[in-house]
Amino acid sequence: MSAAIKPFSDEFEEYGRDESRTSGEASSISFPTKEDEVRAILRKLHAEHVPITVQGARTGLAAGAVPHGGHILNTSRMNRYLGLRRDEQGRFLLRVEPGVVLSELRKQLGKKALPTAGWDQASLEAYEEFQAAPEQFFPTDPTEASACLGGMAA
Ligand SMILES: Cc1cc2nc3c(=O)[nH]c(=O)nc-3n(C[C@H](O)[C@H](O)[C@H](O)COP(=O)(O)OP(=O)(O)OC[C@H]3O[C@@H](n4cnc5c(N)ncnc54)[C@H](O)[C@@H]3O)c2cc1C
Repeated sequence: MSAAIKPFSDEFEEYGRDESRTSGEASSISFPTKEDEVRAILRKLHAEHVPITVQGARTGLAAGAVPHGGHILNTSRMNRYLGLRRDEQGRFLLRVEPGVVLSELRKQLGKKALPTAGWDQASLEAYEEFQAAPEQFFPTDPTEASACLGGMAA
């Protein structure tokens, strides 16, 4: 088992269920922090024919994040902001990793203070425009603000 893939022991018990209140079983779990790690985990498990359940914040009500054996790939530690650009209509498009939590995103947008570490020059220029622009907000709202952006998209 690679270092990123841990056996599913009692300490991970909560990851066997989501807000649907149903629970399932898994044999292993991972919490990747980078895209490369996700790729390595998928490559390894695919070769071994292990089924994978992807999890965001597990607020879903339809049991989509409940495992039925195999591996749990939990994205909650992938929460970096990757860059910003504007489209032809002048709208700001923010690129984030899937584990960014909606309530955090709202807070950052409200403060107009995004974590820009590692951004390229084009993103930093868009960020200056963002700070000079009227207040921006992210309109999608599943009402449960502890949901992750990846889970919301899925
Ligand atoms: C009190 C309450 C109220 C709610 N109200 C609403 C509502 O009004 N409208 C609404 O739509 N929902 C609502 N929900 C449901 C839930 O909040 C949303 O479905 C939310 O978008 C799920 O996000 P999550 O990060 O928790 O995803 P999870 O529950 O972790 O996952 C949801 C699904 O997405 C998949 N998934 C998660 N992340 C990824 C990824 N990175 N890549 C691929 N697949 C992924 C999972 O496998 C699963 O199938 C509510 C939930 C609660 C608890």
